[in-house]
Amino acid sequence: MVTVIESISEMREFIKQVKLQNKRVGFVPTMGALHEGHLTLMREAQSVSDIVVASIFVNPTQFGPNEDYDAYPRTWQEDITACQRAGVDVVFRPRVVDMYPEGWGTWISVEQVTEKLCGQTRPGHFRGVATVVTKLFNIVQPDKAFFGQKDAQQVVVLMKMVRDLNMNVEIVMVPIVRDEDGLAKSSRNTYLTADQRTAALVLSCSLAFAQQLVRQGQRDVDFIRNEVQGKIGAEPLANVEYVEIYSFPELQEVRTVSGKVLLAVAVKFGATRLIDNIILEAKE
Ligand code: AMP
Repeated sequence: MVTVIESISEMREFIKQVKLQNKRVGFVPTMGALHEGHLTLMREAQSVSDIVVASIFVNPTQFGPNEDYDAYPRTWQEDITACQRAGVDVVFRPRVVDMYPEGWGTWISVEQVTEKLCGQTRPGHFRGVATVVTKLFNIVQPDKAFFGQKDAQQVVVLMKMVRDLNMNVEIVMVPIVRDEDGLAKSSRNTYLTADQRTAALVLSCSLAFAQQLVRQGQRDVDFIRNEVQGKIGAEPLANVEYVEIYSFPELQEVRTVSGKVLLAVAVKFGATRLIDNIILEAKE
């Protein structure tokens, strides 16, 4: 039976006991509205940890003023059942007032890698993510924490944060989980109309096309970016925010595909903003 802990002090006490028994703690932070992507992280955590803690916390500090904090889907009952099935031991569900009490005012700000991609259009987003993840790490003290490649820039930011601040936790990146037709699973997919959902398949198709180009020997970053931009731009319901290629995990500008590069896209379908990505690797 999965245990639900809401208080920070109770969570700390639980972890203290677990650590006394020398057990390895795997941690999966989420905002709930769980889908197969989240559950894959949990199963991965379960396979290499003695105790799995998943947090469900819709973090207000990572949403911009005009973003969907209030509307973000909250599906607590389904989430608890899903966690149980995925082998989670403890669901940590802190309250906003406990995480951000009156007078709270300390931020974690990761530089450089937060300035591009989603950092451009979502100012303050990664500051909110880095801050809440630091707070959660301090409370849960995991040995390993599991994050999805779906949010590849987030993984890069958190890896840098952990390295820069000497945090004693290993960040594990788990591949993107997709629907059968290729759409990357996301809690925000529920916002899409049927037409938008069909149109959104252009994302995974374009990424697969880019991979095909690289496999055929194409190495020119501008060429690949233009091809992807053209394909997505040709979809009438798609409104491209960015199509970018950077070295991975450094997120430096590159002109040619060599080693690993991240091709990342952010595209709006109506009011719904979707992101997707692929890591391209040139095998010389
Ligand atoms: P969220 O609840 O959206 O904050 O996501 C919690 C974690 O699940 C993050 O590490 C995400 O990257 C990860 N995640 C979300 N969608 C997917 C997916 N389709 N495949 C793999 N991981 C995912």
